[in-house]
Amino acid sequence: MNVALIAHNEKKPIMINFALAYQHVLKEYNLFATGTTGKMISDETGLDVHRFQSGPYGGDQQIGAMIANNEMDMVIFFRDPLTAQPHEPDVSALIRLCDVHQIPLATNLSSAEIFIHGLERGDLDWRKIVKEKKE
Ligand code: PGA
Repeated sequence: MNVALIAHNEKKPIMINFALAYQHVLKEYNLFATGTTGKMISDETGLDVHRFQSGPYGGDQQIGAMIANNEMDMVIFFRDPLTAQPHEPDVSALIRLCDVHQIPLATNLSSAEIFIHGLERGDLDWRKIVKEKKE
């Protein structure tokens, strides 16, 4: 199962704390992240994270491509709603693709905590079954 982790700059400290707190859950999944977020998570937690480009350089679009290909099972995206982002169109496109493809998307810590407990409990295991059936 594949999980994407993205955090805008103001939210990176929260993402690090989240990854530290839930590394026992996250280590069971294939983790993907935009460049800087991924580097910080792997440096601080030792988790193995596949890193794409930094967000403003296309990382959000690379994760979006995985969503479009039905290769992403959950997105945790701590976006900063108070700071203008140079790549705002990419951010909107990523959020839109999650809705198009029914991919669970948490955009803040409170929802991410609920998601991670769901992941731990197996709430998304149905996606594995559906994918296996399609193969
Ligand atoms: P970053 O990208 O992890 O490379 O900082 C995140 C973003 O701004 O989308």
